[in-house]
Amino acid sequence: MVEPILKVSGLVKRFGGLTATDNLSLDVRPGEIHALIGPNGAGKSTLIGQLVGEITPDAGSVMFLGHDVTRASVPARVKLGLGRSFQIVQLLDEETALANVALAVQAHAGHSFRFWRRADADERLLAPARALLDQVDFPPARRAARVADMSAGERKVLELAMVLAGGPRLLLLDEPMAGLGAGESIRMTDTLRALKGGPAMLLVEHDMEAVFALADRITVLVYGRAIATGTAEEIRANPAVQEAYLAE
Ligand code: ADP
Ligand code: MG
Repeated sequence: MVEPILKVSGLVKRFGGLTATDNLSLDVRPGEIHALIGPNGAGKSTLIGQLVGEITPDAGSVMFLGHDVTRASVPARVKLGLGRSFQIVQLLDEETALANVALAVQAHAGHSFRFWRRADADERLLAPARALLDQVDFPPARRAARVADMSAGERKVLELAMVLAGGPRLLLLDEPMAGLGAGESIRMTDTLRALKGGPAMLLVEHDMEAVFALADRITVLVYGRAIATGTAEEIRANPAVQEAYLAE
């Protein structure tokens, strides 16, 4: 069996009397898209918070690429190869799409870039930025437009390109389709599918069409517990899942 890239074991997080993460174990394999579904309040965002390093678990462990990161800082995890959309990236509204991605490339390149010219005037940053925009299928005609003039869907795709600038091994995606129109959701689904085989993904998403189209495996969370993990077919056929979630 392939060694998982992320391994969560017996994770527990309590908020007062409420157990938001209840002895949760799951793993993400290299290159896999692993979807996390469950009703509102199931503890999906709390789990993502513990994986990113913003919430400290009360018990259990998080192993990432063989490192115990249970109590590691956010930057330490990002350095190891953790990438999170769509909250970690800050878009500069007055800059162009291309300049934003060039700045993300610069940010991840480290100190050697300190004395360089503006990011959007330096071909050493623009070339990788264009390659990232190609990777997420961002239309060339829109790359010189200001971020302030972009649709919600364009901004999300741009943020994805910026997260990819860090070369993540695992992407944590908390509801990437939220706030998108039907057409934009389909485009985002296509974009994520095209990234398959690159970074592994843990995908929290309410859009079941997107989940079933993308996920290699699905874990169903209810009251902080994983009640089932399996392929889309296995999850659809699971009576406990139907009762707890899909029949809603
Ligand atoms: P989901 O993302 O699946 O909708 P959350 O992880 O946001 O669920 O929330 C899980 C449960 O934990 C909910 O009952 C929520 O009210 C509670 N919760 C989340 N964050 C906090 C917090 N900081 N303080 C107290 N309760 C919280
Ligand atoms: Mg949530």
